[in-house]
Amino acid sequence: MDDIIREGNPTLREVAADVEFPLSDENIILGEKMLNFLRNSQDEVTAEKMGLRAGVGIAAPQLDVSRKIIAVLVPNAEEIEENEKGEEIVIPPKEAYSLATVMYNPRVVSHSVQDAALAEGEGCLSVDRDIPGYVIRHARATIEYFDKEGNKKKIKLKGYNAIVVQHEIDHINGIMFFDRINSKNPFATTEGMLLLD
Ligand SMILES: [Zn+2]
Repeated sequence: MDDIIREGNPTLREVAADVEFPLSDENIILGEKMLNFLRNSQDEVTAEKMGLRAGVGIAAPQLDVSRKIIAVLVPNAEEIEENEKGEEIVIPPKEAYSLATVMYNPRVVSHSVQDAALAEGEGCLSVDRDIPGYVIRHARATIEYFDKEGNKKKIKLKGYNAIVVQHEIDHINGIMFFDRINSKNPFATTEGMLLLD
């Protein structure tokens, strides 16, 4: 999984092919590998050992496989509280992840008029430079996809999860995050746009 292709590689600009059901073993294993990669990348010890950059999402085209498969793994934040002695204690979240899944043939089927962007901008495992600016996305989106058993799923997303999934769905359509930054004014906002921390 150190074979992530970088911007400039034409695969990242292709519209990826739909996968067919029932899924081939190859496509099931690829999805599992992608999710595993994200898990490893978020584990400090493993990431350092393997030289991985932490990621919350990855799309098959980033592995030079032009198929509509994405994996997302968005951890919930830990909470910090103070005990009676005034010491900070870390409280792990009840659920480790707010989103942890492999999606086959995902697409946005409806979305809010309202836009949203991450205040800090976006990064990408296929882009080795900082590109400042607001990446303008839908604040809320309904996503349809298939799970590995071939069941059709529909989920409504908002906030950070909505941003992550839209970033990955863009990859299977040949779109890079910087395409969505206003080139003349990178920090321009649209009416009512949400800025997410
Ligand atoms: Zn990316």
